[in-house]
Amino acid sequence: MSVTSQKNGLIIFGYDIESASSATSGFLQGAQQLHQKHDVPWTIYLTGQTLAARVADVQVVISDPLLSVGQHTYNHVLLKSVYMKPDDGKPIHGQFPNFFHSGGTLEQIQEEIGSTQDLIRQLLGIECQGLTGPWGYYRGLVDRPDILQVLSDNGIRWVRTNARDYRDCQPTPFSEQPFFYVDQGFPDILELGVQGYQDDFYWDRFDDRQFGDTYQDYLFAMLEKVANEKLVWNVCSHDHGTIDMDSFSRIKGDWIEMLIIQAKSLGIQFGTPPDLYEQMAA
Ligand SMILES: [Zn+2]
Repeated sequence: MSVTSQKNGLIIFGYDIESASSATSGFLQGAQQLHQKHDVPWTIYLTGQTLAARVADVQVVISDPLLSVGQHTYNHVLLKSVYMKPDDGKPIHGQFPNFFHSGGTLEQIQEEIGSTQDLIRQLLGIECQGLTGPWGYYRGLVDRPDILQVLSDNGIRWVRTNARDYRDCQPTPFSEQPFFYVDQGFPDILELGVQGYQDDFYWDRFDDRQFGDTYQDYLFAMLEKVANEKLVWNVCSHDHGTIDMDSFSRIKGDWIEMLIIQAKSLGIQFGTPPDLYEQMAA
């Protein structure tokens, strides 16, 4: 079901910037060059730790008019526990058959989000309104009005937390489209979700190859679906291993660029979280 007036679907690119390493610099420079080349907007979700360690790298790209900025907590603390139960006979994060990672306490979450808001304001001069929840969760925050209250208190208006399937694994079905948390009492907080896989390496682990043997096969199949059904697709990636622009191109840039080119050929639009927010609020 379409949530926007977009004729052929909408793609929003959002990247977790969380490695606090030289991979941050390679990713930001590579992504900026790629997005400028194709005139396609992009969003970064910064951990406080990464911003503190790599502020000069972030400042290089911050004035890009195509860029929006969100946060990703200070220390990458999970907002909710994740209990992965893939049930496919393969280990998950080195464990078998299941994997559990505990979420932070509400006090920790308040500290993580509040301190990162302060840091972004102080170092970048931005009142940050976006957030990606570390790891992502099944059904996002529909069952956690207490966490939504913390987000609201900190000025967060658009989030990506709905980013796992019913097994707490991936892909997130494309039927999970953006929505406001109206039923929870937070009608001004927009959930974007992360449809599909959170990155290439999760496709590698979880995908059953029904669309082909490469990530590109999967991406192109999803583009057809997005265009035909006029869907919103929040595409995600990470600053992992991208120590310079060459490695960015090889690891991330190649598939992101093919995705952009193919999406344009299908008439799919590109936007930012604030664009979608305005469109859906209207
Ligand atoms: Zn992350």
